[in-house]
Amino acid sequence: MNAIEFTEMARKKEIDIVEHTCQVIENIEKINKNYHYFNTISKELAIEQAKKIAKSPKGTLCGLPVSVKDCICVKGVESTAGSKILKGYRPVFNATAVENAIKEGAIIIGKTSQDEFGFGSFNVNVGVDFEMPRNPFDIERCTGGSSGGSAGVTQMANFPHISIAESTGGSIACPASFCGVAGITPTYGLVSRYGLIDYASSLDKIGAMAKTASECRLMLGVIKGKDPKDATSIDAKEGDSAVKKVAVIKEALEVDEKIKDMVLKALDSKGIKYDIVSLPLTAKYANSCYYILATSEASTNLAKFCGFKYGAEFSLEDSYNAHFTKARSACFGKEAKRRIILGTFARMAGFRDAFYLKAAKVRTMIINEYKQAFSQYDALVSPTMPVLAPRLDELSKLTPLQSYMMDVLTVGPNLAGLPHMSINIGFSNRLPVGMMITADHFCEGKLFEMAGH
Ligand code: GLN
Repeated sequence: MNAIEFTEMARKKEIDIVEHTCQVIENIEKINKNYHYFNTISKELAIEQAKKIAKSPKGTLCGLPVSVKDCICVKGVESTAGSKILKGYRPVFNATAVENAIKEGAIIIGKTSQDEFGFGSFNVNVGVDFEMPRNPFDIERCTGGSSGGSAGVTQMANFPHISIAESTGGSIACPASFCGVAGITPTYGLVSRYGLIDYASSLDKIGAMAKTASECRLMLGVIKGKDPKDATSIDAKEGDSAVKKVAVIKEALEVDEKIKDMVLKALDSKGIKYDIVSLPLTAKYANSCYYILATSEASTNLAKFCGFKYGAEFSLEDSYNAHFTKARSACFGKEAKRRIILGTFARMAGFRDAFYLKAAKVRTMIINEYKQAFSQYDALVSPTMPVLAPRLDELSKLTPLQSYMMDVLTVGPNLAGLPHMSINIGFSNRLPVGMMITADHFCEGKLFEMAGH
């Protein structure tokens, strides 16, 4: 049963929502022992919500178990963005996306595992003292990141479920691909970022993951919309959803031969005719441009975590600098520290013109390159990731730069704020393969149209 059928039955009182919720919690507690998809399971909140909904079952998400990436605030539930520095932080408010979902009857079952603050593509950069989630198809492999917990539980759940996740540079598409589920990253601004523990504010987008594209669509319909608490959020009319002309991105085919063949075959089997289009600027510069902008923004966004206001508590040191240093040294993981240093360097007086400002200009050129392509095509297609889900022992041998290069296919649409969706197109060596569809701004309808059900 999928989420749509489930909520229909729940509204008709054909499901005992409280009993169902209790079973779901038991189920995820069991899964979590070996797979570590949740940083926190919000059992009490879930049962309290279930009891309330059972009395008057209504709403688009009536009684549906919903998991939420740890960086998205849920009132009263520990929300750490996967970082030790936020251990113990219980927000006194809900993120707007979460609030909207709860208003429609969602039951929040827990906060899912992620790379610390979203810094990674494999969910192996977990914070100090956090567990690493494992791929549902092979426990020795990664889930993909940074929303790895969301993707893993979405695949493994034997109950109807949707996850609310987040992407800065590919964090929904990548784990969706490695775990064999569907993931939608909407146009920048379509979903309010209020209550999101930010990574890079000009890039962060809240979206959804589910087993099917239609379930992603259901959740997006609930969480989107203008929010007075986020000045960059916007109400957008749904545009034309007809997909008439499709192109495959030429440079994106320079991947593992098997993955390439599967993408082209998936299009053929759906009877979709395509052209090949070249996006040379994006292929060459998107990655370096992304890592300069993302780390620059991250380095300022993380400045507020200094061991005073939120989360982990420290005894006061005699000077502010000593206190700040002690808290941050103890609580940030290696990758978070690396990104703070990288980003601070790129913004520094003397280097700003050469790095940060130049990257901002390149970003505009990349947006223009996509816009040019969308003047001819309704959808652009590529593999989601250049590889299958790597083994954890292989990942430990990669240099940071080699890890960053794995994002070469997903950072483009993220930099341009374009909606994109990863769907499963089958398996290679028993591991899932994802195909990514990208559309013009606010053309999410075309993605769903093309993804099918
Ligand atoms: N892998 C990319 C990064 O490390 C994207 C992560 C994300 O979207 N949060 O920045």
